[in-house]
This record gives sequence, structure tokens and C-alpha cells, in this order.
Amino acid sequence: MNRTKTSFLPALFAILISPALAVEVRHEIHFPDLEGYQTMACDLHMHTVFSDGLVWPQIRVSEAWSEGLDAISLSEHIEYQAHKDDIPLRDHNRAFELAKNYAEDFKFLLIHGAEITRAFPPGHLNAIFIQDANSLDTEDYRDALRISVEQGGFVFWNHPGYIKDLEAQWVPEMEEIYKNGWIQGIEVINGDRYYVHAHKWCLEKNLVLIGTSDVHGLIHLGYDLSNGGHRPMTLVFAKERTAEAIKEALLAGRTAIFSRNLLIGDEKYLKAIFEASVEILTPEIEVSGKGRVYVMIRNKSDIPFELEAHGIVEGIRAYRSIMLYPDKTTYFYVQRTSQELKGRHEIRLPYIVKNLYVKPAEGMPVELVLNVNFK
Ligand code: ZN
Repeated sequence: MNRTKTSFLPALFAILISPALAVEVRHEIHFPDLEGYQTMACDLHMHTVFSDGLVWPQIRVSEAWSEGLDAISLSEHIEYQAHKDDIPLRDHNRAFELAKNYAEDFKFLLIHGAEITRAFPPGHLNAIFIQDANSLDTEDYRDALRISVEQGGFVFWNHPGYIKDLEAQWVPEMEEIYKNGWIQGIEVINGDRYYVHAHKWCLEKNLVLIGTSDVHGLIHLGYDLSNGGHRPMTLVFAKERTAEAIKEALLAGRTAIFSRNLLIGDEKYLKAIFEASVEILTPEIEVSGKGRVYVMIRNKSDIPFELEAHGIVEGIRAYRSIMLYPDKTTYFYVQRTSQELKGRHEIRLPYIVKNLYVKPAEGMPVELVLNVNFK
């Protein structure tokens, strides 16, 4: 009997079996990069058992990595620990410390943060890119905000209007915070909710658009991830894939929000995303008589585009509404309605992309450009 062979067998099995146990799968999100910038998917507001969440910090990293995100921040409440009888809190930095090395193993960016959680006004504010969460445990919220900014933090107002209508007002306390330079952004999306008034404030006061999940339980229980669902996220247009570059982009206001089918942001970013995502596969078409001709459009991104006609073009009939599904090719036809058009023409079909909000609850105008040879 060959002893070498038999003793080799258990080791071989161990090698064959163990890698399968360690596999984790990441869904890849498709957002186009913009010229000079990388599009990074970030969720900057969530909780773990170290405040009132229901999961351990490392799970938040795993969830976000597997959903295809690039960066998250664990923003535990400074003033509220729901599980303090079971998990006595000695250190507000603990969740971050626990998840930091784990995130590094995944090459995933974990941003240090905390939620300053006071009664309204001013309500709740997230401070991210801070150095020490313990120093935000102050009597007066003004000190916590001042210290956040002194530590190089980026502060945004959370869910304004969440509890009562009164919170949908730009209160004097917030005006004071704003005038002191202690706030840089506002959550326009928090979980399922879109705050139209917060969108207006961002435009009026030059504050940065932020969208977050504010997740407390397991992410997949709130969003149907296996059927194309996703958490709300802030798309950050960063110069490189680092935490520092995310901060620079946030301070410069280079963000958009992706929540359900909505994309919210400045027209210059949304237009660039639309143009980089959508390709007309048949830019040159020929129409004979009163015939129809098919136009094919591919959407390379994970963002759906809901187009609705916005005006008419003489001599051409086109679809009133067109849905460009994510990662799919759509085709529709145009029809000649007048024999007066002859020869080659550039036809610009005007549409509104209804789910791209460049202003509060207002879609983005686009044109589909076709070169048509009328025979
Ligand atoms: Zn929160």
C-alpha cells in the first residue's frame, strides 16, 4: 500500500473544498464615468448595533461591497444607543474601528462618521470624514458641529421634514449653522422619501445633494436586490478612487442621487451621464414614401430613462413615450407624415427624461439626433 498517496488525500480535499466556502459575490453597478472623474457609488448614512441598527459593523461593509458600492460611512447616533444594556458603549469610534481592517481587505472605502442627533430644531446632522466621534459628545450641538468642521468633516442635514411638517422649514437655528459654515449638504433623499423642499434649499444655498439609505436592518430586507432593486445612494464624481478624492468631490458639490428610478442632480452631470449611457445604434436612417423606419437605442447604464415627447417635429411622427431600460436595447419607429421633406436632414426629436430631476421634481430636456434620408 502506498502510504504517501493515502495521506495526501485529506489535504487535497481541504484545498478543493475551502475556497468555495470563502466566496463572496459582488454585483457590478454600471454608471458611466464622466470626463475627468470616476463615478463612485456611496451610502453615507447607516446604523449598526452600536447605535440603533440591527447588524454588526462588518456586515455593513459586506452588504455594500456585494451590492457594488464603492464607499460607505457608519454614522452611529452620538446621543442614542438602543442596545446599551447589551452593548455598553464606551467609545463612539468603536463601529468604525471594528470594520476598518475588514473594509481594507475588500479594498472598500470606509469613511469615519457619526450622527449628531438632537431634538428639532436643528434635528439630526451627519458628520463624516471626522477624526474622533467621541469629541462630538457635547452639551451644545453648536460645539459638536464646530468640532466636526475643525476636524475636516463634511456635515449634512438629515431627513429635514421627517417627523413633522415644521421640520420642512428653514429654521433660524439652521440659518445660524449655515452662516457659520457648519453645514455643506442636505439629504434630499433619505430611504424612500424625496424632500422637494430640501432640493430647493440645495439650489438656493449652494448646498450639496445627498441621498442615503439610513438603513437600520439588513439591506436586502428593504430592497429587492436580486430583481434590480438598489438602496438610495449618492453618486460622487471623484478625481480618483480614494476617500480623500470623495471628500474633495463632495466639497466641490460634484454629486447626484440615485434612488429607485430617480436620478437627481445638476443638469451638467445628468446630461453627461445620459449622453455617456445612451447610444443610438441607427443614427443614419432612410425613409421611403410614408414608410416607417426603426430606430435602435442602447442604454449601457443601470439607470432607466423614461422619455416623454416634448414638442413635435414637422413631417415626422415619433413615439410619445419611450422607456430605455437599464442594460438593454430598445427600438421604436419614426414615420414620415409629409412628402415635402426630401433629401438628407438632421432631425432632433425633443424629449423630457421624466425621471432625471435637474430641478425640484422637474425632468431633463434632451434631443435624440437622427440623420434621415427622405426618399
Ligand atoms: Zn440615522
